[in-house]
Amino acid sequence: MPTLSDPLISISGLGKKTSERLNQLGIYTLEHLLFHLPNRYQDKTRITPLSEAQVGSEILVELTIDRIEEAPTRQRQLLCYLSDDNNQRLLLRFFHFNQYQKQALVRGETLQCFGEIKIGRQGLEMHHPEYRITSKQSPLFESTLTPVYPLCQGVTQNKLKQWINIALELLKNTTIDDHFEKMAKNTMPSLSEALFLLHHPRKGENLTQIADFSHISQQRLIIEELAAHQLSLKQVKLRRKSKISNILTLETELSELLSKSLGFSLTGAQKRCIEEINTDLATQHPMLRLLQGDVGSGKTIVAVFALLQAVANGFQTAVMAPTEILARQHEQSFGEYLCKLGITVAYLSGSQNTEERNKQLHRVTSGEAQVVIGTHALFQESVSFDNLGFVIIDEQHKFGVHQRLSLAQKAKKTPHQLVMTATPIPRSLTMSAYADLDTSIIDELPPGRQAIQTIALSTNRKDEIIEKIKQVCAEGRQIYWVCTLIEESEVLRAESAENTFTYLSNNFADLRVMMIHGRLNKGDKEAIMRDFSQGKINILVATTVIEVGVNVPNASLMIVENAERLGLAQLHQLRGRVGRGGEKSVCVLMYQSPLSESAKQRLDILRQTCDGFVIAEKDLELRGPGEVLGTQQTGIAGMKIANIVRDAYLLKQASYYSELMLGENEYAQNALIQRWIDEDKSHYANA
Ligand code: ADP
Ligand code: MG
Repeated sequence: MPTLSDPLISISGLGKKTSERLNQLGIYTLEHLLFHLPNRYQDKTRITPLSEAQVGSEILVELTIDRIEEAPTRQRQLLCYLSDDNNQRLLLRFFHFNQYQKQALVRGETLQCFGEIKIGRQGLEMHHPEYRITSKQSPLFESTLTPVYPLCQGVTQNKLKQWINIALELLKNTTIDDHFEKMAKNTMPSLSEALFLLHHPRKGENLTQIADFSHISQQRLIIEELAAHQLSLKQVKLRRKSKISNILTLETELSELLSKSLGFSLTGAQKRCIEEINTDLATQHPMLRLLQGDVGSGKTIVAVFALLQAVANGFQTAVMAPTEILARQHEQSFGEYLCKLGITVAYLSGSQNTEERNKQLHRVTSGEAQVVIGTHALFQESVSFDNLGFVIIDEQHKFGVHQRLSLAQKAKKTPHQLVMTATPIPRSLTMSAYADLDTSIIDELPPGRQAIQTIALSTNRKDEIIEKIKQVCAEGRQIYWVCTLIEESEVLRAESAENTFTYLSNNFADLRVMMIHGRLNKGDKEAIMRDFSQGKINILVATTVIEVGVNVPNASLMIVENAERLGLAQLHQLRGRVGRGGEKSVCVLMYQSPLSESAKQRLDILRQTCDGFVIAEKDLELRGPGEVLGTQQTGIAGMKIANIVRDAYLLKQASYYSELMLGENEYAQNALIQRWIDEDKSHYANA
């Protein structure tokens, strides 16, 4: 007799090949079979009189055979005419059949049939129903609802049902680890109760709730699954916290100098985030903190304050950005603050020539550079630091865990890490996918910022923008015009920018229009951006090059062409390039008609709100966790029962239980994790 923890092949008749197929469904052991839940049910608990049969519904009927015949059509068919006591009739059609089958269907026999009721020329029909001859075979009638399971190739419904029933039989006679039952203290059904109910619901069970995933038995499993994922991330966090890092004693001198050099005072939210970071840095355990804030909320300056702690304590800081353009912008924006304080900055990127690169590398290795800013080039093998103690990473999504680790490994002790995200992360993801990180949120914009008015406009009304442009330029304000062709080729993108550039130049002979795109060389790009930020250019035509980080407060009009092709987060980022000064700003989203339903939804959301956190939630709703998280987080995106969008309302409860689980012994914790997280999908092992 197998046990629940045994591998699938211990079921007799289940071979290696089938076992491999079931592995694809995440089923490796008999216990996993228990968690392979039906996606719907058939109701064979009631025999429906034909007079009540509704076309399209699946029902069980019991009728007598009147006659059978083979239809003389080109494609052979077996027809079986049935009726009940009231002379109501049903015709069964079989398109594939054998002689044995035909001979068994004898006039006068009683049949139980289960199938979908269709309507044909002669009245009610069923095609290829499941059937039993009641005098010879066990009836189809069942006392509970019949599960229908999701299948994989090469496995039939009947076989799978049979194996799952073996596992359920075992469950009856064994006690399964059920820490939640203990913790929930009778407020939720036990694990076994929930599983039995969902595999074989009793007649009259609330199937609508089950279809909505809101049945308490499902909630019970969902909470447990969410808690298992959180637990595994929290374990990672605890393990990290047990490591030793450098204690950074709080310095105030540089910070005060910096504060004085700013033309503004920090928002309350910025101050709070800086304090949260400083508290972490002053402990002997490595920080790993996510700094979230909407576009324009002022994340850069928070990061600068943080790195001052490392500088003052004699440690180097690495600032890593996902693209060359972003890295350059960081060099500029961080550099501006740091230079004034006499802090030395080095820059590393893949596009540097050997001489320049060697020069910069030397500054890093010797310790001359106190801060090193760069792209992926930072974690290449050839880069060695004198005394790395603090790592700042911009845009979490675009780096893998491994990349982050390989940079951290360049430090003698695990460094403190601050991760900045360009866009806010929905709360449900922070509670699930990012449960291993501490978070600080800048939930307040600098004072005086006005909401950006957002307008959607069809391309064929392009001319209406001309007036607006004249007006904005007359007020001395500047304009971005972003061209977004999805063509992979930078040549085609540049071409579309070129067309717009010509169009605008022709219309505005008296204005200075310039164009920037990826094919320009570095020097030219920098010169154009400088001219624009100094107000020497009225209209900047750009490809999505300018998406992140550019900061020109005098720009007050953003026009995005083909906005229907961009995602919510990207559009929100682009829009965030304006509205950075005290002036009222406008964003025009131009689109090509007709709009798809999803594009329409995106544009509507942007018109309704400027709040990045709201937009992030909507984005998650529209695209789902798999798309939003990408491949880095397959664990959360591919859960067995839970879905963090649908089940977000249960995350808090899950969090409560995962905290409680952390207090349980290691065996119990690991049993829970192994139940829910496939080993080969687990990205946690090396996080
Ligand atoms: P983001 O969070 O998008 O990276 P930035 O760090 O680029 O935002 O800051 C956006 C702009 O706001 C910058 O010009 C910055 O100098 C300015 N800024 C930051 N904090 C404040 C503040 N407390 N008061 C006024 N302006 C601020
Ligand atoms: Mg920024």
